[in-house]
Amino acid sequence: MITPNSLEKIVQESRDRLHLITDSLPVLIAYVDNKQRYVFCNAAYHDWFGVPVKEIQGVRMSEMFDEHSYRIMQPYIESVLEGERVDFEIQLNHRKDGPRINHTTFIPHISELNETVGFCVLFMDITDTKTAEALEEERARILARTLEKAEISNRELDQFASVCSHDLQQPLRAVKGFTDLLIKNYGSRLNEKGKMYCEQILDGTKRMQTMINSLLDYARLEAPDTFRETVNMENIVKQAIENLGPAISANKATIACQALPEIEGDEMQLTRLIQNLLDNAIKYRRDAPPEISINVKRHEKGWLFGVRDNGIGIASEYAERIFDIFGRLHSARKYPGTGIGLSVCRKIVENHGGRLWHESNREDGSTFYFILPDKHP
Ligand code: ADP
Repeated sequence: MITPNSLEKIVQESRDRLHLITDSLPVLIAYVDNKQRYVFCNAAYHDWFGVPVKEIQGVRMSEMFDEHSYRIMQPYIESVLEGERVDFEIQLNHRKDGPRINHTTFIPHISELNETVGFCVLFMDITDTKTAEALEEERARILARTLEKAEISNRELDQFASVCSHDLQQPLRAVKGFTDLLIKNYGSRLNEKGKMYCEQILDGTKRMQTMINSLLDYARLEAPDTFRETVNMENIVKQAIENLGPAISANKATIACQALPEIEGDEMQLTRLIQNLLDNAIKYRRDAPPEISINVKRHEKGWLFGVRDNGIGIASEYAERIFDIFGRLHSARKYPGTGIGLSVCRKIVENHGGRLWHESNREDGSTFYFILPDKHP
């Protein structure tokens, strides 16, 4: 038989169970009657308002919130009292943390007589998610802007490449053609000085042609994320050594190489990188035969490679200039070259998400270091 005592016990037990469940949740949960008075609320209310849960019971919603917040909630309260579930976002003041964005849900409690007798109120603090979303949106905006810029610079590069290959070559061909004609038709009337000037013009056009081609080459070095293959650096070195065979034997150069790792990158570009560095190590030699070593060790960002030589070294004041396009320290007569090799090397390393630099002194030669990540970023 159910007595008033046992009934009260059952009610108390179910109330305890409700508290056990709702108090452990980081959400403000309450039940409000149709007069907008709190009948039940969980422990999160205490944390939010600093008022003991018991003291909230019987209090009207309009007394719990500041006037502005309550005014925003009012139309939603009217809707829920008409039996409609509502969801909305509202900024509420936490007593310690200040303004927080809350996802709010009002769920109507409809009786058997089809009357709204009260409603369940849920406030979920979504400020952190909102902030993370805003950050994500900002990041996406920055990425889109960067991609747009990259696209523009790619377009400019294409334009530059086409200028190099057509517009610049045309007048150059004309100068060469007319100089050839001058020699052919008027050569017999030119004195030695005149002939020498013609030779110099032809030399100059040839050099200009080489420079334009190497610029074009530089501009066409592919952008990063067009390659993703696993490359064995040992094979790369072997290939570069094979390509440089004649120069190596003509200079009696020796190349010692450690066991090298596999990385993710572009085989052609990496071969070019190693080949340019070895080519320079042989070209900028002293009297003694070039002794070159290739070393590698682990680095926090991937692998740190070093190509060391016993050549003429580089004065510290030119440490950066040598990486400029056409940046040379010697005349083409003394050491042939266009001055684009190291710019190409730097671009290749940067294309792979790495860094290239050198340490050098006039006594011991130079070491060119570069870091290549294991995986392309
Ligand atoms: P290039 O060799 O065609 O001149 P690079 O861009 O490869 O063009 O090199 C730029 C300059 O850096 C060279 O002209 C040379 O003065 C210097 N350099 C490059 N590598 C070395 C090296 N291993 N030893 C000494 N000098 C070097």
